[in-house]
Amino acid sequence: TVGVVALDQHGKMVVGTSTSGLFMKKKGRVGDSPISGSGFYADSTVGGASATGLGEDLMKGCISYEIVRLMKEGHHPQAACEIAVSNLDAELKKRRGKAGDLSVVAMNNKGEYGVATNIEGFSFAVCREGETPAVYLVKNVD
Ligand code: ASP
Repeated sequence: TVGVVALDQHGKMVVGTSTSGLFMKKKGRVGDSPISGSGFYADSTVGGASATGLGEDLMKGCISYEIVRLMKEGHHPQAACEIAVSNLDAELKKRRGKAGDLSVVAMNNKGEYGVATNIEGFSFAVCREGETPAVYLVKNVD
């Protein structure tokens, strides 16, 4: 999945996702990517978030909505991403002993961003008008 969280010059936010779904998925499976609140969520008064990983697990936490909810409570996007991934990862491990891949990006309406993952390495890019895009690699939240 490729996810984008964008903020325009008027303070409007949009989020987009594009995915091929999971490898060898069953016919008719719908993952998290097209589901508002799971694969993506945006509220211009707060911020937006996008997720990638195992859709069946990401949906259990409505993770993109959860991140925006945490930002609305006052958390910086980085903290919101870390809290959401870490809580869902722990909940899944408690329920069934393991968690699927969970990776998220988020940005608030001030342009502050965050990213978190429970996998070994997750890459993301930050693009600002007039600047060369920067690509980063983050390690898991543990
Ligand atoms: N989240 C997508 C899905 O479960 C897969 C992905 O992110 O690569 O359909």
